[in-house]
This record gives sequence, structure tokens and C-alpha cells, in this order.
Amino acid sequence: MKFNTKTIHGGQQHDPAYGAVMPPIYQTSTYTQSTPGAHKGYEYSRSHNPTRTALENALASLENGNYGLAFGSGLAAIDAVLKLLQVGDEVISTNNLYGGSYRLFTSIYKKFGIKFHFIGMQQAENIEAYINENTKLIWVETPTNPMMNIIDIKACAAIAKKHKLLLAVDNTFATPYLQQPLTLGADIVMHSATKYLGGHSDVVVGALVVKDKDLADKLYFIQNSSGAICGPQDSFLVLRGIKTLHVRMQRHCENGKAVAEYLSNHPKIEHVYWPGFENHPNHAIAKAQMKGFGGMLSFSTKGNNFEEAIKIVETLKVFTLAESLGGVESLAGHPASMTHASIPKEAREKTGILDSLIRLSVGIEDIDDLIEDLKQAIN
Ligand SMILES: *Cc1c(COP(=O)(O)O)cnc(C)c1O
Repeated sequence: MKFNTKTIHGGQQHDPAYGAVMPPIYQTSTYTQSTPGAHKGYEYSRSHNPTRTALENALASLENGNYGLAFGSGLAAIDAVLKLLQVGDEVISTNNLYGGSYRLFTSIYKKFGIKFHFIGMQQAENIEAYINENTKLIWVETPTNPMMNIIDIKACAAIAKKHKLLLAVDNTFATPYLQQPLTLGADIVMHSATKYLGGHSDVVVGALVVKDKDLADKLYFIQNSSGAICGPQDSFLVLRGIKTLHVRMQRHCENGKAVAEYLSNHPKIEHVYWPGFENHPNHAIAKAQMKGFGGMLSFSTKGNNFEEAIKIVETLKVFTLAESLGGVESLAGHPASMTHASIPKEAREKTGILDSLIRLSVGIEDIDDLIEDLKQAIN
């Protein structure tokens, strides 16, 4: 089945009870048993729920995996991955990542005795120097948030295989429409389905997809034991979002390209971070591992002025100033004071997150209105 058919039919079946085309929202905590232990596959909704199962099967299909797991948020999904580890284990993570992931790693898991190395991974071979007998997991985000760095998933997978480490890829920015990490050799793909998969800024959901049964069993045990599951209503909303993923992504890519090109020709703009430009340091890798360049980009203004950046995001009218990304509507954010405020300024600037950096999630509105809006706000 081709991807554009999978978004609509992948892993799905019509509801066996009444033939409903869309899976019903099974808003129930428990399920009847005819005699103790005899049930129709569902006992209690923390363990399994039919609407969640439908979403989990759809996710597995989209990512070319065998097992999907849906969580109450993207961070709950990451949390489940980290619970595979034990005291003394070490993780090598990209140094330019979602602020909430950084906070989870450093504020929660560090105190439980997990050690993290945050490193630049644009050259995958950098990873090797940090591997020792305690290393268990490589954590990759690509494109990275918000600098749009590109990490070579295949090269990371080769290193992970060689040293028998798990490779997890946060695929939130790219979505399976643009990039399929499991096919490139990753063990775990993670999503904040809050973003493009849901696609309508109306839900907070997380997901993991894996190929390996043992790994799936371990993650399912953690999901059921820790309990951070995705509810039936939210599962339904993400399933509905997924059905138009390919159509939305196509437009996100078109609009993202047009905005990147407009900004790169603007005299007040210092730099535009977008992997579609030929002069992007890892453009060739992006081209090889992604089907397109997506709707996310960042830019900085000349002079690196904090106040000016704030003024621009406040003046935008079609772009909404808000956290998050990946919805049909265009959003703008100021990472240094919003999504990445939890990262100390010094660490932030080391990875390029300047005070003047503005991040855009380019939506699927008419491109003329988006460009006009940027023009009036920047001028
Ligand atoms: C939003 C986001 C997360 C966290 O997901 P939540 O659903 O907000 O918990 C993780 N990684 C990336 C890249 C994100 O954009």
C-alpha cells in the first residue's frame, strides 16, 4: 500500500459491531466478562481501548513498523523510552532538541542516575567518542528544533548497530510523510502527535512505533505500568487528523519553501534556517532521507535585537503567536523566551538559539496572505 492510501486505510478496519466506517469513540473504562477472564480482548482501558488500538495500528502502518503505542503526550512517550534504562546507563542526545525533552532528561532522569551527553550530531561520527560500556541509547531529533539541523539517521543507525545501542528518533517535525526512521535503521520512532499527525491544534498526544516484538513488549509493559495512555476521544481526533496528513504535508512543504525564499531575500533578515537551501550544511542528507523539507523554519534578524524580534512576533496578524507547531494554521514563536526558555541562555546560544531567532510553523493558508503578513510585521 502506498503512503497516501495508508494514511486513510493503514492498519484500519471497519468497526465489527455495526460496521461504522470511522472507529467509534469507546468512552469506557472497563469491559464485561462472561466468566472471569473471558472477554473480547479488552479488560480495562489503561491496558487497551479499541479506539486507541485503531490509532496505534494506524501509527504502526504509517511508520513502517509493527507496533504502535499511543500516550497522553509526546513527553509521556519519551518518558516511556527512558524507563527502559537503569541507574548508571548513559544516553547520547543531540544538543539541539525540543526544550521539554531537555528538561525531562536533565531535571527528572539525571537525578535517577542516568547520564546524558548533549552533542552536535550533524557529523554522525561525533557520536563514537562518547560511547562507553554504559551507553544504551542514542536520542536523535531531525530536523532539530528550532535550528533545523539535519542528522543522518542511516549513519546513526550504523553506529548504534555496531555498538548494540538503541537508536530513537523524534520524528515530530518531519512526520512519516517526509521521513521514515525505522526504514532508515532506527529502533524507535517517537512523535508528538500533538503537532502534524493531529494537525489541527486541538489535542495533546504522543506516540512510539517499533518493529521489534521484544522492544514492543517492554514498552507496552511500561505504558501499562506507568499509565500515561492516550484517551479514546484524543485517539479519535488524531486518527481523523492522520487521514489528511499527506494532503496537508504537501501544502506545508509548498508554503514553507515560498516563505523560506521570501525571507532569504529580505534585507533585514540575517539568516534563514531551512534544510531546503543548497547552502544548508546538511542539505544533501536532508534530500536523501526526506521526501520534502516541511513547513518548519527559523530566521534571525540583523543586529540580533531581542526587542525587535518580540515586536515582529507581536505584529504578525495571520501568523498566531503561540507555542506548538504542525497545525493547519500558521504559528510564530520566539524560542529564547518561549519553547527554549528552560534551557540556560549560555547553553542556548551555543546551539545557535539567538535572542533574535523566530521560529515559524508555516500553515496551509493562502501563501499570498502569509507573505503579506511577514512583510508588514518585519517592515
Ligand atoms: C512538542 C514536541 C514534543 C513534546 O510533545 P508534547 O505532545 O507536547 O508532550 C517533543 N518533541 C518535539 C520535537 C516537539 O515538537
